[in-house]
Amino acid sequence: MKFKVLLILSFFILSVALANGKIVGSIIDETGSPLTARIRIMSVQRAFLITLYTDWNGDFEIDLAQGQYEFEITKGPEYERKIIRVDVVDNKETEMKITLNRLYDLAQVGWFGGDTHMHSTYSDGRQNVEQVALACSAAGLSWAVLSDHNTIAGNDEWLSFSGKGITTIMGEEITTQIGHINALGVNQLVAWKPSATDEDIKRIFTDIASQKAVSQINHPFDLRNPFERIHVEGFDLIEIWNGAAPPIAEGLGNRESQEYWYGLLNQGKKIAAVAGSDCHDVYSSYSLLGFLPLQTVILILQRELPGSEFIEYAKNNEQILRSWVKHGLFPGTPRTYVKVPELTQENVLNALKSGKSFLTNGPLLLVDINGAEPGETVLISEKMMLNIHMMSNTPIEELRIIQSGQRVYTISLRGKTLFQCSIQIDPKDGDWILVEAFGDYPLYALTNPIYFKNR
Ligand SMILES: [Zn+2]
Ligand SMILES: [Zn+2]
Repeated sequence: MKFKVLLILSFFILSVALANGKIVGSIIDETGSPLTARIRIMSVQRAFLITLYTDWNGDFEIDLAQGQYEFEITKGPEYERKIIRVDVVDNKETEMKITLNRLYDLAQVGWFGGDTHMHSTYSDGRQNVEQVALACSAAGLSWAVLSDHNTIAGNDEWLSFSGKGITTIMGEEITTQIGHINALGVNQLVAWKPSATDEDIKRIFTDIASQKAVSQINHPFDLRNPFERIHVEGFDLIEIWNGAAPPIAEGLGNRESQEYWYGLLNQGKKIAAVAGSDCHDVYSSYSLLGFLPLQTVILILQRELPGSEFIEYAKNNEQILRSWVKHGLFPGTPRTYVKVPELTQENVLNALKSGKSFLTNGPLLLVDINGAEPGETVLISEKMMLNIHMMSNTPIEELRIIQSGQRVYTISLRGKTLFQCSIQIDPKDGDWILVEAFGDYPLYALTNPIYFKNR
């Protein structure tokens, strides 16, 4: 999905043009090392929001009109989220040195967060490859796939950023009239036709596999670009959470994809789910819609997406959309964490394929059943214990345990950021179990399933 946001952008530029005070800042961690980070600036008096990034050395600079601002500084879910009040004064330069503490280090236990789906100016993304790579680093991602539409022209440039602390993986979003397929880890362009038949789709899956790459059905129930040949077998992954639509809520595709996937799992098809941001704009200009009155939002939507079902949805689901766009459509929102013995492209792709992963836009969710982790099959024994370890930089309200598509447990957390428990479960042969975490909307996470088999 992609939206044109010219109107909002002009509003954004107008706000910046009034600037007459300067902020010069740098971000460091608790050891004093510089950190790349994302900074979102909200005006306290006026409804506007600016997103900017530090450079690779953790430094940033911005001119702002005189007034009070709230700076939100983040680097993904493993770091604290810091909010700072800043007064900007006419013709004055203010220096800021901000320490962002690392709360969790999942790499220590083999878990690495990444994004399977992003765009650059090599197709219809707004930013060049370097800006996308920097935004990934600032989001705290360990690996990332660039997946421009029907091109891998960005390959050499993208892979050159692997030295910057991110494992960059080349992808291609094979874009046809009947749906979109991501090829993760390609080194040659996958041939495609605009109007693909079932046979063409099968050939695309085979071509991807022959490159030792991984195939992913993108946003299968998206309103504008659904995947119409979902019955064609042979894909490795299903994108049940696409960042261009709100999570959990029904009506815009993600919930429908998740329900469809539960159906596949219930048929015994062990297909792993992934989350991808589908980010086209690392500045998330669309977030401004969350601050404008509903009537203005509807006018913009009518102009940008005439006749879209999205407009009706917006009228009926104002709060969901407001919270979701305010949270932002950035690289890593949402992200997929994989468990790997060592961070390499091959290991990431294998972990994605086998479902050794969880999907999140915030909560971190490590689970096992008698030592078996997501993607693994466990033999049923007398005592089966599900161990859950939840970590977050924002309050989490609830955990849910899903057994073969049905909710079997709800655990109320009432705003905890750290939680551990063990629960005895009672699975049957062929069952699967996954865990979900819910925070303030749209904060959400879910694991891939753990499967069960009789001894
Ligand atoms: Zn797409
Ligand atoms: Zn896309």
